[in-house]
Amino acid sequence: MDCKKFHYWLTTRDIHQKLIPPDAKDHMTGCPECRSLFIKDDILEKGIASTYAPEDLPRGIEERISISLDHDRQNFLNQVTGKKRSAALAGAGLVAALIIFALFFTNFYSSPTPAFKDLNQITLQAATDHLKGNRYMSFDARETQAALSMLTKKLGFKVILPDLGYLGYTLVGGRLCAIGKCRAAYFVVEHDGKTGSLFIMDKNFIDFPMADGSRFTTNVKGCDTCIWKDHGQVYATVF
Ligand SMILES: [Zn+2]
Repeated sequence: MDCKKFHYWLTTRDIHQKLIPPDAKDHMTGCPECRSLFIKDDILEKGIASTYAPEDLPRGIEERISISLDHDRQNFLNQVTGKKRSAALAGAGLVAALIIFALFFTNFYSSPTPAFKDLNQITLQAATDHLKGNRYMSFDARETQAALSMLTKKLGFKVILPDLGYLGYTLVGGRLCAIGKCRAAYFVVEHDGKTGSLFIMDKNFIDFPMADGSRFTTNVKGCDTCIWKDHGQVYATVF
């Protein structure tokens, strides 16, 4: 296997398949660059895994569900007798299970549906995430091309960087992240000696009309922010 074949394998491999084919393993042993790409790819995977890590049900919600069900169940039981009673109990149990199931799944899989209702919401979320100060990077500027194709694969939309030269930004590096509940690409950029954040997310995450190229600039929480849409994706910068 040569580097080209290795890159092809890396970008097309099944992320659920943990076994590395022997020829890919052999190539990594002799090629530090491909080995480092593989490690970065794995870090991206872990980033996704933690973004989507199952969360426990909010505190008390199970109790609240059973209490309201007990109340309904009691009303229901007052109307039935004998054999019907066990069927009713089974019915109530099934309803409880379905509600918990539904809560679980709306919690896990709500991300692909639009999450942002307006520009202010994106601005606030981006500024909040920026101010948390997590500048962890799983790749640096020199690896941008490989990283972009990996991010594209992970995020399911073609991640295109804005014209950084035109904006006067210097790219430092980036990682996979989430802006609020939406998976996004995150880049650390520098401008005029200041370190800023650039978030890129799919346009499907916004639930309002936004024209390509239109810019929304404001200052929130002491940060200068800019949101715009281009190439079918939404960009947010925070300095
Ligand atoms: Zn190689």
